[in-house]
Amino acid sequence: MRILLLAPPGAGKGTQGKRLAEHYGVPHIATGDLLRAHVEQGTDVGREIKRILDSGELVSDDLVLAMVLTAMEDAREAGGYILDGYPRNVHQAIEGNAAAASIGMQAQAAIYLSAEEGELIRRLHVRASEEDRDDDTDDVIHQRLETYQTETAPVIEHYRGRGMLIEVDGMQSIEQVTAEIVNKLAVSVPEG
Ligand code: AMP
Repeated sequence: MRILLLAPPGAGKGTQGKRLAEHYGVPHIATGDLLRAHVEQGTDVGREIKRILDSGELVSDDLVLAMVLTAMEDAREAGGYILDGYPRNVHQAIEGNAAAASIGMQAQAAIYLSAEEGELIRRLHVRASEEDRDDDTDDVIHQRLETYQTETAPVIEHYRGRGMLIEVDGMQSIEQVTAEIVNKLAVSVPEG
């Protein structure tokens, strides 16, 4: 199963990514987690990444693509991946697809988890107190939602136009969201 997870910040990508990875027995590749791991290393690149994460903007397409490709290579043996947080703009969608195809790891479907903005803000504030993420402050939350609208929302239409989009209501319970994704994937990607 090779799946992309698209959603605004706070819609439950991380939670669903982990659950789906467990369900299908494939790695959960979360670009935000990979970037935060870089920051932890405290290298020059890590410091530059932290500055961008703390601004709510996107890290460079080249850097993220390189990370994703390495993770996809590593995922090959497991037979697939749940890719969470990539692509974040249409350029990444096009270049990521070509790169994945070149190693035989092209995505089979894109899941879009939708949620209302008020609920997203509420969940991001809850997470801020639970996880202590530097990018879950009021200003950065606002900027991340704006970046999502301008950069990432067009990616949804990109996949809809290619007949690859599976839309799921992210306002349901965690269990209901997972069940709906699994049921819809069983219809659209039966060989998974
Ligand atoms: P996330 O954990 O998915 O909410 O991502 C946290 C932050 O990492 C985002 O606000 C971006 O700054 C950065 N990021 C994650 N994925 C990408 C990506 N595909 N392209 C560029 N920046 C990304």
